[in-house]
Amino acid sequence: MGKTSIFILPLWGTGHFIPMVEAGKRLFDINDSFSITVLVVQPPHPSTISNLQSYINEVSSTKYGAGICFKYLPLTDPPADFQDPVDFVSLFLQLHAPHVKAAIADSTTPVSALFIDFFATTIIDVANELGIPAYIFFTSNAACLALNLHLPALEKKIPFDFEEMEGEVDIPGISPIPAMCLPTSIMNKKSRSYGWFVYHGKRFLEAKGVIVNTVLELEPRLLEAINDGRCVEDQSTPPVYPIGPVIKFTDVGKHDCIEWLDAQPPSSVVFLCFGSMGCFDPPQVKEIAVGLERSGHRFLWVLRSPTVTGEIRHPVDADLEVMLPEGFVQRTKERGLVWPRLVPQTEILSHKAVGGFVTHCGWNSILESLWFGVPTIPWPLYAEQRLNAFEMVRVMGVAVELKVARKREVFVEAGELERAVRRLMEDSEERKKVKEKVDEMRAACRQAVNGGGSSYAYLQRLAQELSKATA
Ligand code: UDP
Repeated sequence: MGKTSIFILPLWGTGHFIPMVEAGKRLFDINDSFSITVLVVQPPHPSTISNLQSYINEVSSTKYGAGICFKYLPLTDPPADFQDPVDFVSLFLQLHAPHVKAAIADSTTPVSALFIDFFATTIIDVANELGIPAYIFFTSNAACLALNLHLPALEKKIPFDFEEMEGEVDIPGISPIPAMCLPTSIMNKKSRSYGWFVYHGKRFLEAKGVIVNTVLELEPRLLEAINDGRCVEDQSTPPVYPIGPVIKFTDVGKHDCIEWLDAQPPSSVVFLCFGSMGCFDPPQVKEIAVGLERSGHRFLWVLRSPTVTGEIRHPVDADLEVMLPEGFVQRTKERGLVWPRLVPQTEILSHKAVGGFVTHCGWNSILESLWFGVPTIPWPLYAEQRLNAFEMVRVMGVAVELKVARKREVFVEAGELERAVRRLMEDSEERKKVKEKVDEMRAACRQAVNGGGSSYAYLQRLAQELSKATA
């Protein structure tokens, strides 16, 4: 059998790039005649590629180097005019269309598919021009996919901005959701990000399939609603492939945080980490410090500080002396560690000393917490994280609620964090129930990716489709 070529176009953010490549690795495990080319979009701020570079080197140096190669697309000027991060990434990816076309046209073997990040649906035009099936890779969950697909219908039903709504919104497959739990990017209909969400959702319907990093057993009602067409009007939904959890496991060996955890009792530490973009201004940092100190529990807190490059706010390594309240480190040194830069999160979550996780609710972080059976406190910050938090607390029951004041800015008071940490870490009926649910989900995730599991079966089905395309 000849080689089957697949091209993958991810967004450069780790939460998108890594799951798409990891999914490529799993396809290669199923069928090593797949030849996978990852098209690497070079981000406008070179600092953001450095994390990816070590990941790319790592993949290339393993057995996957035989089946997966990385092709850097030419440096491209960022859009001159943009309004928000969703607008920026959607426009920036669109500007790469000629490069994507040239890279695929160069392929010496027949191309059976182009997997595109869900912010890159404009690139479906390139796939159409080249006569190649396009698959959407949805790095978030089925709840967000259902919302995306349903947004055009909601638009007709709800004539005003979600940010003005007090009530709830119906999305097929999930309980009515308070409007304030919808993704930040769609709260205002006049915003460009809202326009992009509607645009991308409509274009998903043109794809040959939608690959989702979720698990059938985690979101059964939502996947059923998507599959039976309840999310869209007058059109059919392409086949959906829930193949998750696609997780990148780290094993960095000796790391100060792991060594510190080695010295702590089992399930005693609450771990706080806020994804690749989470960072706080000084007043919020102070509230967290006070809340943790008062809770009396052990903690490992990843604290990074905000900076702005080219109008985009993002975190950098923190200067802890400047960021933390005076005397905090001294007073908590017997039971706490504040770490000023990125950590090997999966390794930390897998550590027996970790008993709880305060998370920003990025979908990858949620999947990782479920995989390792760690109950959470959701502290949503941006993107679709409020929707994820709602699903974790109200639908899945795997988290203890944190009251987040969020008319515009997210703010959590020390007392509220202290209460949530106590509820998460101390014996109670609530903690027992949450832990039971988490353990159930942990088992479901592990079962799904094994031979005979639902995600494995979907991946096999996808692999067969791809092989047929070049047979
Ligand atoms: N991550 C990590 N170390 C950190 C922060 C994040 O390894 O200090 C990883 C985390 O394990 C996850 C990814 O980065 O796999 C973040 O993805 P997620 O979807 O949770 O959030 P995003 O960063 O996309 O908002």
